[in-house]
Amino acid sequence: MSWRGILVYAENYSGSIHRASFELLGKARGLLPKIGGVLHAAIVTSEENAEKHSKELIAFGADEVLEYIVKERFLPNPVVHRNALIDAISYAKPKLVLVPATPWGRSIAPRVAAAIRTGITADCLDVYVDDAGDIVQVRPAFTGNIIAHIKTLTSPVMATVRPGVFPLPQPDYSRKGEAIAKNLSLSEDDDVRVVGVSKRKTVKLSEATIIVSIGKGVRSKEDIKLFEELAKALNAQLACSRPLVDMGWMERDRQVGFSGNIVRPRLYIALGISGAPQHIAGMKDSQYIIAVNTDPSAPIAKYCDLFVVGDIYDIAKKLLQALEGFKEVK
Ligand SMILES: Cc1cc2nc3c(=O)[nH]c(=O)nc-3n(C[C@H](O)[C@H](O)[C@H](O)COP(=O)(O)OP(=O)(O)OC[C@H]3O[C@@H](n4cnc5c(N)ncnc54)[C@H](O)[C@@H]3O)c2cc1C
Repeated sequence: MSWRGILVYAENYSGSIHRASFELLGKARGLLPKIGGVLHAAIVTSEENAEKHSKELIAFGADEVLEYIVKERFLPNPVVHRNALIDAISYAKPKLVLVPATPWGRSIAPRVAAAIRTGITADCLDVYVDDAGDIVQVRPAFTGNIIAHIKTLTSPVMATVRPGVFPLPQPDYSRKGEAIAKNLSLSEDDDVRVVGVSKRKTVKLSEATIIVSIGKGVRSKEDIKLFEELAKALNAQLACSRPLVDMGWMERDRQVGFSGNIVRPRLYIALGISGAPQHIAGMKDSQYIIAVNTDPSAPIAKYCDLFVVGDIYDIAKKLLQALEGFKEVK
């Protein structure tokens, strides 16, 4: 069998497409000249949203959208998505399949890889084509102590990629593409039985515009409140370095770095973070980086646009006061 082109799984279990799917389409467009073939997107969607979703996927780079139209109640069923993606692979015969490494994507991709007996590289930080024309997947290995460059020997090559790793492309709604309605036979077993709904709000750091990130410069769990206030005043998300998660002061979904979230906000404010490579790997693509540190030789100084030598408590309080004044003037 000859494998050509790229297939991106567009994540949609709630009625809207996850932004990471668009990031993958942008990356796939860049890889396509070296791989050849067509860029497909596969989506499970509803009658109501199918046309809108296909237009979006084409605008973000898909040449052909494979639409699996199901009743709304089937949307949050991973088995339905698994079956759709298996069908899409058998139809498109892509050389590379990209799936967002979101909690949802992580639950779909391995089921598909197992069913079609191909390898999968989970949680990639990059994918490239080497001089020999082979697809190489890059991901941390051995608890993050090395970066592995992996070639899969089976076809298609399947990878899940972390949200935020690739930039969001500019959509072009004048792009031409094709939407192909695909059938999916569903049985009673595919009907969803909701057994409980998690009340926990998850933080989407990879989508934040402004991030205030705190590190071990914070002296106690109670002190975090000050930086929460600052984040709120700046309309920012609060994030952290790994030690704060390890100490149980912050939730894991707020960790930035190699083993946490990859972020690229317009503004990243690092407070009391030294700039270890594992942290830098997660925020270096931010548009503008401000770091505050009492140590003028902290490594983060090399990676930021503005380095402030000072105490984070002092600066957070002064900033809050200034923002308060700004609000009054407004
Ligand atoms: C496999 C592996 C994966 C990892 N993954 C991650 C990851 O995803 N994300 C991550 O962040 N780390 C990760 N780490 C940990 C990483 O190596 C560093 O230990 C960590 O990033 C350090 O966090 P920090 O900068 O907050 O703390 P520190 O390195 O201790 O730095 C604290 C900084 O605060 C400054 N400071 C102290 N008090 C003040 C004050 N009052 N005002 C201003 N500045 C002050 C100090 O000068 C210092 O520079 C990983 C490590 C390993 C081995």
